[in-house]
Amino acid sequence: TDAPLEPAQTPVMRQYTAAKQQHPDALLFFRLGDFYELFYEDARTAARELQITLTARDREKAVPMCGVPFHAADAHIARLLRKGYRVAICEQMEDPKQTRKIVRREVTRVLTPGTAIDGTLAEEHNNYLAAMALHTDRAGLALLDLSTGEFRATEFAGAQAIALCADELARSAPAEILLPAGNPMLAAQDHDSGPLARAFERIRTKTPVDDWVFTRDYALPLLERQLGAHSLDGFGVADHPLAAIAAGVLLHYAQATQKQQLSHIDSLRFYERADCLQLDQVTVRNLELVDPLFRDAGSEATLFHALDCCRTPMGKRLLRSTILRPLLDPAAIACRYQAVGELHRDLIEREELRRALGAVLDLERLLARVSLDSAGPRDLLALSASLRALPLVCAVLLRRQAPLWRSLLAKVDALEDLSQSIDEAILPEPAATLAEGGVIRPGIHAELDDLRATSQSGRTAIAAIEERERTRTGVASLKVRYTSVFGYYIELTRSNLRHVPADYERKQTLVNAERFTTPELKEYEQKILTAHERSLEIEKQLFATLRGQVLAAGSRIRTTSTALAELDLLANFAHVAAERRYVEPSLDLEGSILEVAAGRHPVIEHMMERSGVERFVPNAIYLDDQTASLLLITGPNMGGKSTYLRQAAMLVLMAQMGSFVPADRMRFTPTDRIYTRIGASDNVARGRSTFMVEMTETATILNTATAQSLVLLDEMGRGTATYDGLSLAWATLEHLHNEIHARTLFATHYHELTLLAEPLPRLRNLRVSVRETPERIVFLHTVEPGAASKSYGIEVARLAGLPQRVIARARQVLRLHEKAERQATAEALGAPLQLTIFTPLSQRILDRLHATEVDSLTPLQALNLLSELKQEIGSSRG
Ligand code: ADP
Ligand code: MG
Repeated sequence: TDAPLEPAQTPVMRQYTAAKQQHPDALLFFRLGDFYELFYEDARTAARELQITLTARDREKAVPMCGVPFHAADAHIARLLRKGYRVAICEQMEDPKQTRKIVRREVTRVLTPGTAIDGTLAEEHNNYLAAMALHTDRAGLALLDLSTGEFRATEFAGAQAIALCADELARSAPAEILLPAGNPMLAAQDHDSGPLARAFERIRTKTPVDDWVFTRDYALPLLERQLGAHSLDGFGVADHPLAAIAAGVLLHYAQATQKQQLSHIDSLRFYERADCLQLDQVTVRNLELVDPLFRDAGSEATLFHALDCCRTPMGKRLLRSTILRPLLDPAAIACRYQAVGELHRDLIEREELRRALGAVLDLERLLARVSLDSAGPRDLLALSASLRALPLVCAVLLRRQAPLWRSLLAKVDALEDLSQSIDEAILPEPAATLAEGGVIRPGIHAELDDLRATSQSGRTAIAAIEERERTRTGVASLKVRYTSVFGYYIELTRSNLRHVPADYERKQTLVNAERFTTPELKEYEQKILTAHERSLEIEKQLFATLRGQVLAAGSRIRTTSTALAELDLLANFAHVAAERRYVEPSLDLEGSILEVAAGRHPVIEHMMERSGVERFVPNAIYLDDQTASLLLITGPNMGGKSTYLRQAAMLVLMAQMGSFVPADRMRFTPTDRIYTRIGASDNVARGRSTFMVEMTETATILNTATAQSLVLLDEMGRGTATYDGLSLAWATLEHLHNEIHARTLFATHYHELTLLAEPLPRLRNLRVSVRETPERIVFLHTVEPGAASKSYGIEVARLAGLPQRVIARARQVLRLHEKAERQATAEALGAPLQLTIFTPLSQRILDRLHATEVDSLTPLQALNLLSELKQEIGSSRG
């Protein structure tokens, strides 16, 4: 369509074309004076996405164009990044006033969704850039949040490597991922339905990077240079080359796009999946941990939202990542309970700490902005105000006993030297940017004070000139004004021109007025402008010095903000526990136990409490590896089965985060993985059979769950024909019980499965209870021992007003079906004798046997009875 390369281009457009050719995949923001302009296809895209007017640069050739004022560009760029676009900023590298030729322009920064640092990033989210390096049976993953400086990497090995890596990728929900341009393994995943494809599907921006970047020889030295380390041993990545390569790739890309030092990226954290409770992507979604299952349901319905009363953005981000990566180490978990408990008991101290934390702004992001040279004077003040809040935080910590509080206290550094330097140097209400000055306080720099005095006196003098000239010319409307292009001038309207004195020099003619200057005015103008320019220079220098001081304190600030995040998290746990009557769980490291008294679902309970309409009905849970490893929950639709399952998972998850839990009592053994599968999950968008999805997910469980896992299966087999579904559910239950021994909760509408309690000794039947009144069925939401027996469907239909005859017939048909099913079920149990219980014939035989008093039978009578019974069977068969 548009050909950016046209023969008769102006020099500026040639410059544009050259810059665009270097960044074909980015929207090029091309600086022209006070605007950033976009051309051609970029202009169309931006006009559409930003709802701004599309114009034309050159009327005849009609080059589409649109523009945004440079001072308003940040918000526009942020919007484009959120929509997944990349933006290249092409700046003027010279002052147009200083050059007669065309101004030199260069691309100074490329902004991408995964490297955004702007102020519109959601504070509770990290904004990750991800890279993956794959090798047959190994996978390395690295994540960088440029806006906070968080930089971490992990590596997986073995047959499950790629699937596990994909789960970790999905959990991190990066804004952008870097992929080797020519890796066939990744290309193949595009057509696959595996976990990697699923994880990729949710990442909006996929950026190919040259294959040579993904090599040891290139990526590792780059990483070493950035971290200032001679070897990577200290960061734990030495034995994990793929993790290190992925980390190096991220640095390569961050440097290439930012085109400057990334001094806040000074460490890399290597972590292993074995360090935390594993949650695969399906489980994260099903449990609605951080995102609601359906977008339109509002974000209220997530565990994150229910638990988040954090006071700092760092705390919120840590809470989010803790929900996705709960702890595994019992000692670490116990340590958190102890700290939370101490604050839980003390309302005043808790409030004090939380209030102090409330004054701390986003230290991590402020530091990142300083490091990437996009922090203004107000950012520095925000940083110093946050640091000033720390002594109060420390005061509360000093009174704490728990070792965790004490170790966190040791990491908090109030950096008083730094906040003092900032406050001394910067005006309390500084200009937003350095461009026009007005940032540095008086009394800091003698020359700056002098220059300011000079321009002030110059301006006073000019004001006096206006007065004097009015008197001299007798024109009351005479004005002395200033514009950045023409400088100072005296303006008279056309009708007053006859009063112009002889010493005025004509400067500019307008429609209704004439502008003049005088040698005196020129002199003052020169003084003022020189003084202003020089003072701007000094302000910039002083600001740069401060910036240097902040950067020099970078690692102290980062350590402090990491500690503050954890403080905030623990204080949040204590606060939520106190507000909602949560209790401290107790760890059981002997067996494999989950025992909960009066447990509640944290999210539903919270939502109910806020709406005030209903109350959540507490329920007990008991699971262990000796007597009850498998709970089979039956009961009518809407009875509360799914809720009971999720509640179990949430309680375990929260307990392993180190949080207190919504229950009267809880005892548990840490779990290595939680699996959640929901039958007939709706995945129509991907165009795959929902049943196929369900079975793929079930396969993952049966192949990877361990005896330490917690497995939730909700309505398995619903996606296929009854007998198919029932049979698969049946076999799956047997396998989980006999082979895997995982603690399992299984909710089902197949009542037949309840019979498995007999052959499977550790299976416990539970049912959700209902109360029937003549008019309606009341769901009590209590879970009690026993198998549900009745089909409530027909009852509901009756209440709904279906004709009496239809209901009666339905009951009849149901009875027939149940009979047939019971028979098959009993056979499957491998107990054919039970079969007799259920047919009319066997019922007769049974009745006769019942009526017989064996003690009083003679041997002959017994023989006769036997032959009669046999005959009866024979005749019915015949
Ligand atoms: P099922 O899976 O048996 O069809 P759900 O678990 O989906 O039932 O629950 C149905 C409804 O009952 C939901 O709206 C849920 O909020 C409510 N509910 C479930 N359990 C409880 C409970 N223990 N207390 C109060 N309401 C509950
Ligand atoms: Mg359900």
